[in-house]
Amino acid sequence: MTMTRRWRFLRRPLPVGLRRWSLWGVLVLLVVSMLALLVWLAGTYEAGQVQSRVERDAADAVSDIRAALTRNVQSLQALQYSEPTPKSWEIDAEAFLREHRELVRVEWRSQSLKILAYADTPFRPPVFDRMGRQNMQSEVSVACSTALKFSGPAYTSSYFLPFADGLGAEMMELCLPLQSGGKPAGYLVATYSLQEVLEGLLGRQLTSNYEISFAEGDGTRLALRGSSRRGSRVFTAQQLMDLPGAALILRMDSWRGTPDLFPNVLTALVTAISIALVSVLVLLGKDIRRRVKAEHELADALAFRKAMEDSLVTGLRARDLNGLITYVNPAFCKMVGFTTQELLGHSLPAPYWPPEFIDEYKQRQAIILAGNLPPREGFESVFMRRDGTRFPVLIIEAPLINAQGMHTGWMSAFLDISEQRRIEELSRTSQERLQATARLATVGEMASLLSHELNQPLAAISSYATGAINLLAEGGETPFELGADLQLAMHRVAEQAERAGKIIKSVQDFVRRREQVRESVAPKVLLDAIAPLINLQARKSQVRVITELEPGIAAVFCDRTMIEQVLLNLARNAMQAMDQPDILERVLTLRVSRVKGEARSQWIEFSVADLGAGIAPEVQPQLFNPFFTTKAEGMGLGLSLCRTVVEQHGGALVFTPNTPQGTVFIFTLPARTVA
Ligand code: ADP
Repeated sequence: MTMTRRWRFLRRPLPVGLRRWSLWGVLVLLVVSMLALLVWLAGTYEAGQVQSRVERDAADAVSDIRAALTRNVQSLQALQYSEPTPKSWEIDAEAFLREHRELVRVEWRSQSLKILAYADTPFRPPVFDRMGRQNMQSEVSVACSTALKFSGPAYTSSYFLPFADGLGAEMMELCLPLQSGGKPAGYLVATYSLQEVLEGLLGRQLTSNYEISFAEGDGTRLALRGSSRRGSRVFTAQQLMDLPGAALILRMDSWRGTPDLFPNVLTALVTAISIALVSVLVLLGKDIRRRVKAEHELADALAFRKAMEDSLVTGLRARDLNGLITYVNPAFCKMVGFTTQELLGHSLPAPYWPPEFIDEYKQRQAIILAGNLPPREGFESVFMRRDGTRFPVLIIEAPLINAQGMHTGWMSAFLDISEQRRIEELSRTSQERLQATARLATVGEMASLLSHELNQPLAAISSYATGAINLLAEGGETPFELGADLQLAMHRVAEQAERAGKIIKSVQDFVRRREQVRESVAPKVLLDAIAPLINLQARKSQVRVITELEPGIAAVFCDRTMIEQVLLNLARNAMQAMDQPDILERVLTLRVSRVKGEARSQWIEFSVADLGAGIAPEVQPQLFNPFFTTKAEGMGLGLSLCRTVVEQHGGALVFTPNTPQGTVFIFTLPARTVA
């Protein structure tokens, strides 16, 4: 139980940051120790190499010296070959010494070690002058007895010999027994200077690279040759040179192999690689730090994007090239009432497609998936919520391009436009209602004019009827004449009745609500249609109506009823503006022409001009406001409706002062060439 708990504690994961750092620590430690080991191994290997070379050279030096000594022994023996006299021997010995610097003296001694002849080296003053040769007698006798024992050359151990000039040198004696006719015949004794042995018997190659010395067992130097340069590390080799009767130690110190900071190429190489490795590690560390930072930034950006998508009211949906849904945002789910899980991976037909449109939508999808771009501004469609209710949506679809620039699917944005539709519908109905009201108001205004206008034909009918009755009552004339008069009267009655009927029909036409359709209408047709109604008022207000139509003018594309109403409103306003006692010249000009200038040559311009008092500057800004009027019985809707209608047709309604006085109202409509 306790164990399990302890294990669980041990297995508890470290925090991510700490774990990463400890991993890094271990890696750095491993790399550094590996590199240190490498450098150490390389150094040790190199040192081993140098050491063995020094050992080898030391062995070579020893064998060089040994060979030279042997050669010398033979040369010395050669002095004896010609059975010399002491005198001739001395001459030969001097010649021999001139060639052998390492020897300071050669002696020919008798069997009893008495000196028979001798020669000193010509290179220095006689070395035994200060101490006397007798002092060395014991060394010589030891050597010679050993030589006798070996029947060959024997050496003494070295001794220090002070010179006359206060200096001194280490010397070594060689004793060589002589034989004559198989019997001992004295000795040859030669004295070697150890210093000169080092100077003369070793190759230049060795001496320039090493410090070479003869040493004793305890390290005391007896003779030394070579530079005493020292490094931080010296490689030393000692070689025993045993000669018959004596032994010497040759010691070689290498200063050439003395390591600098980098003892050699290999170590330098390993060190350089180590430095490069550490630099790479540092760079790698930096790079990882940058990556971690980028990761954080990416995570932040992702979180921000997610928050943004979640708070969007626009529905978003992505699909792959096969039509499978790959992404939906919460707004889309809310819009259609399905969950993300239900929608993701769903293929066509989508669950939010109304069953009655499935075929049509499938076709549409096939077109889009085939790569035909839908319109950029989007298109409208109808979707179905989970509860079965339908709602209109605006869909904006765009190809989904990934980071490599490849087309991977489609991204769509959805806007639920049911509310917008409701408001549009509301405003359309109220607009229609307003226009109907305005039309009725116009009719109301016309009622009095109408009764006045109808009075004339009715009075005429009545008088013709009375006349006819009278004719019938009198009956005095011939039936033929009576018939002719009655016929005329009835014709007149019929004519007048027709005229009255026309007047009533024109009003009826105007009031009757018609379908709102746009069609190509010749401007003349528009003017003719409203002419009877304009004339009604013109007669009452004593206004002269002038109509000017540019010849060959194109048809306009418009809702005929609406444009008639606009023309009638403007004409009525114009005539009302001139219905003042002080205005004597009352002319209403209706003009239709093409808009001049290239750019707008596809437009037709209608102008309604009057010679009234004009519009006061303070009135001008509010002229088009609904319910703005300066008239006692006015509604103030006329101009506002006119502008709405003209703008719905894509045109514009403006006004300018007329000359010499009055106002001109001008509006434009799109032209449609008459076929
Ligand atoms: P209403 O005719 O019912 O007053 P309108 O919107 O047609 O409503 O006109 C608003 C006002 O604009 C009028 O009351 C009048 O003062 C002014 N107005 C319109 N047309 C003219 C015109 N041709 N000359 C002078 N004033 C005008």
